Amino acid sequence: MRGKTWDCKFIGLFVLVIALGIIGVPALVVLRWSGGGAGPAKSTGTEVKLQIAKGKVISLPLEEYLIGVVAAEMPASFHLEALKAQAVAARTYALRRIYQKTLPDKHPEAHLCNDPDHCQAWISKGEMKRKWGIWHYNSYYQRIARAVTETKGEVLVYRGELIDPVYHASCGGRGTEDAADVWGYQVPYLKGVPCSGHPPQENQVAVLNFSFQEFFTRLGINDEALPAASGLGGLVEILERTGSGRVKKLQVGGLVLQGVDLRKRLGLPSTDFSVQVTPEKIVFSVRGRGHAVGLCQYGAQGMAMKGKNYREILTHYYQGVELRHLSYQ
Ligand SMILES: [Zn+2]
Ligand SMILES: [Zn+2]
Repeated sequence: MRGKTWDCKFIGLFVLVIALGIIGVPALVVLRWSGGGAGPAKSTGTEVKLQIAKGKVISLPLEEYLIGVVAAEMPASFHLEALKAQAVAARTYALRRIYQKTLPDKHPEAHLCNDPDHCQAWISKGEMKRKWGIWHYNSYYQRIARAVTETKGEVLVYRGELIDPVYHASCGGRGTEDAADVWGYQVPYLKGVPCSGHPPQENQVAVLNFSFQEFFTRLGINDEALPAASGLGGLVEILERTGSGRVKKLQVGGLVLQGVDLRKRLGLPSTDFSVQVTPEKIVFSVRGRGHAVGLCQYGAQGMAMKGKNYREILTHYYQGVELRHLSYQ
């Protein structure tokens, strides 16, 4: 084994000397063009390792990744300033993940995945074509690419650190929610703020009906915990509301639940609901879509339509933050 290793080393050295003679000078030129000591790997700019399916990771430039996120997370027909606000929030989120020392347990090979419940949604160009149709594809793609390019390098910072720029579809017009009321911990820049200017159809109430059986099954309640049929009127009781008026705590039979927990178990669009119990069913009337923390996408659209720019939109929903320009490639 040793002799063989020596042979290999000798041949390797010989090849190296010849190779340096032939390509040495061009290689030095290439390195200088790509930023000297930084090496060729960095010459292509910030790369995102993205998991697009279990076990399938692709690598793509950050700004290209952001086009796929904005396309997936916000309607492409939205005002350019709303799209720009979304692009800056998505960039801040992505860079926070990229700069983290450890990669998430869910995808140890990738900075991010395309699951909106874990990271941010993302779609490929092929999926954009299917979503928008071939007629709209070019104009929508250019629009979103413009929102990403015109904000290139811009991120949201609070006290010198990249923020956690959470966002949701619609607060239903009630205003955004304090992070502490949803996740149980204070975040100085994620406080409830007023939100007006939603398109009217976004403030409509969605009505969801549940049979008793389905309701109890989803909550994991068995029959013994239930009150007698005569007491159904008080079956669901709201115990506490958040500062903005959403359901914080409620009681179902003998079970006390957080509003966010009930929303998850029943798959409700938001925690902004009222409940009505009839002899046949349980009726939820729900406003808004999402956790209601941070940037409200339909509210951002409303602000943009009123002439606000993306900076004004972002500093409204993320109180006390500033926009900074990062000089990555
Ligand atoms: Zn993920
Ligand atoms: Zn809103």
